[in-house]
Amino acid sequence: MEKIYMIPVNDAYDSDCECPLCTLRDNSEKNYLDYYLGPSLMEPDTRVITNKTGFCPVHMGMLNNSEAGRLGLGLMLHTHLKDMDAEVCDTLAKSAAPSSGGLFKGKDFKAKLNQAADLIDKRVATCPICDNINEAMGHYTDVIIWMYKHDDQFKAKFKNKTCCLPHTALLLRAATSMSQSDAQEFVSDIQNNAASAFKTLEDDVEWFTLKFDYRNKDKPWGNSKNAIQRSMRFLSSDRRDFDEVRSKQ
Ligand SMILES: [Zn+2]
Ligand SMILES: [Zn+2]
Repeated sequence: MEKIYMIPVNDAYDSDCECPLCTLRDNSEKNYLDYYLGPSLMEPDTRVITNKTGFCPVHMGMLNNSEAGRLGLGLMLHTHLKDMDAEVCDTLAKSAAPSSGGLFKGKDFKAKLNQAADLIDKRVATCPICDNINEAMGHYTDVIIWMYKHDDQFKAKFKNKTCCLPHTALLLRAATSMSQSDAQEFVSDIQNNAASAFKTLEDDVEWFTLKFDYRNKDKPWGNSKNAIQRSMRFLSSDRRDFDEVRSKQ
């Protein structure tokens, strides 16, 4: 088993975070954002990739919000736009042409319209940062499965760590590689953790709402102040708009 993935997995499970897999995902994302804003954007091998893929809307936004790499970002976008232009405009020109093979030749123009739209949707969504993160998460879940079976210390940590729902689904998929009896124990731990996370959030969100009752005005908030943001992170794992800083108080 690859040791380079064990250290970050152990660190994430040791840290005081809401979901260790979100922590691993966020750290990989940060590394890949730094990579794609760094000198790599000038390297031909990277540009061959980014000319084709560009970045998904989420990661374009993150690259835009970063202070670094404006020239690299501009150079990358210039050649990516040219690549997109060639394929998209070629498809549209073929589609609109009245000559044979054009979009409106024959009866299947609806299918051809959908194909042209699918091409654009697919190209807009492709993103090497997403691909790299997904690949890293695959390695991390392999390591989690392996350590759960071979490392008792890790297993004890796993038993006491809740994680968000999308990453619960990721762990369940990863568990398909286990033997039936190992998977049964693993899923039983996941189930206990999920039950405890739901209970905590339900109680905290309920108390958050009850605090609006004037009779509870002077009672302590307990852990409820950020119950809404924690619930959103648990439900979706997406943290962009779910932080406490950006919330309206
Ligand atoms: Zn998560
Ligand atoms: Zn992306």
